[in-house]
Amino acid sequence: MTNSISRTIAAVSTPRGKGGLSVIRISGPDAVQIASKVFISKKYPVLADAPSRYAVFGSFLGTDDVVCDTGLLTIFRSPASFTGEDCVELSCHGGTAVTNEILLSVLSRGAYPAGPGEFTKRAFINGKLSLTEAEAVGLLIDADTKEKMMLSNGASKGNITNRIAEISGSLTSIMAALYAAIDYPEEDVGDEGEKQIGSVISSSLNKIKALLDTYSIGKAVSDGIKCTIYGRPNVGKSSVFNLISGENNAIVTDIPGTTRDVLRETVSLGGVTLILTDTAGIHKTDDIVESIGVEKAENAVLASELLIAVFDCSSPLTTEDREIIEKAVSTGVPRIALINKADLPCALSDIDVNTIDSSFDHVVKSSCTNSPEELLKDLDSSIREIMGSDLIDLRNDAVIWDARQRAVLLRAYDSLSAAKEAVANGDPVDCICTLTEDALSALDETDGRTVDDKIVSEVFSKFCVGK
Ligand code: GDP
Repeated sequence: MTNSISRTIAAVSTPRGKGGLSVIRISGPDAVQIASKVFISKKYPVLADAPSRYAVFGSFLGTDDVVCDTGLLTIFRSPASFTGEDCVELSCHGGTAVTNEILLSVLSRGAYPAGPGEFTKRAFINGKLSLTEAEAVGLLIDADTKEKMMLSNGASKGNITNRIAEISGSLTSIMAALYAAIDYPEEDVGDEGEKQIGSVISSSLNKIKALLDTYSIGKAVSDGIKCTIYGRPNVGKSSVFNLISGENNAIVTDIPGTTRDVLRETVSLGGVTLILTDTAGIHKTDDIVESIGVEKAENAVLASELLIAVFDCSSPLTTEDREIIEKAVSTGVPRIALINKADLPCALSDIDVNTIDSSFDHVVKSSCTNSPEELLKDLDSSIREIMGSDLIDLRNDAVIWDARQRAVLLRAYDSLSAAKEAVANGDPVDCICTLTEDALSALDETDGRTVDDKIVSEVFSKFCVGK
């Protein structure tokens, strides 16, 4: 049987469905030879003569050897290709039948169907990408917000890889001194040597900690944070929800109790991704359907990572408003009060305003109907401040976002903390050496230099076929 990495693989790399163009990608040692069996070019009758990175026009043959389309073929010869292997890209018309026919034709000529993420996995195995860079490719494909794209761009540029290499480099530099101390115990490392080892370990710990601290913002960008809009009926929750999401999905009326179910949208605001929820107005009701909505709203509040409580500027705080404030405070999560309907005469007393001010991290006073842009801008800056989004430059800083990246960095941090303690306690050098080696091997895993095959397969299984 052919070893899986020496097999030539093929898949459609563009999304399924009708489109202007489709791209079929072939990668592996027989890529050019297989492509030559499904493609006829007048200019290059022997396809192997075609230069690399040059679009050749020609006809595609279907499984029955009959021409089924015309289009372009580009050869990327090893190692200058995405996978590092010989690659061929076939661009045909984007009909589902024709795309499928050309793929089947390629497969019937000796290519194997590519598994999920197999092209990127090969790029990783062939040293074209580190594991974090491969994860960045996955994030870029999934990116539906500009922030996710910027986070991926930063990691693809090697921001994480370079930072890890920098930390590993300084730790490796003290390993020589540690090994020498083990091999020649009679030659003391000396006070200076010990100081230097201690200082490299401490500064590496700080750098790992700084990287770990970026996880909350990285995750808030890549996965999003659960943000619930809630308040009593008719204060303008659905209007705010529609304004933030830019859609008219929530029903807005002056009849209380119209939102009975929980509505969700994923939006980009405040430099992060919000999984935004609109909820039924919280109040006491005998209506069974509405009371289910209120219960769901209360559950959404409990599961939230950020709350936006909406109040009506044109009426004094009610008992329900006060219960809503108490609930917000009791969750302990970051919270914003949005005093809506500021276009109407204000009926909130100074005491009401103080109660709101002292219970929320930020207060935004605006009007959904009269100054929607200002309202969005104020919400955006409040969220930026709460999340610390402006303190991080997604494109230029090393920012982690994945649980795997965090887990290995935590391992490196724990080993290095133990090494620091061992230095402070004057423990034997081999103990310091082993702990530093553990930290180094965890750092290597972050980028996949010494990672387990199972973990590599797990990372790439999240990709789609064709990538
Ligand atoms: P919800 O029940 O809290 O979801 O409130 P809605 O979004 O359905 O709004 C209730 C009513 O208040 C509707 O008639 C809206 O048009 C109106 N409304 C919402 N925001 C504002 C605002 O900023 N100013 C004024 N004057 N009316 C608003």
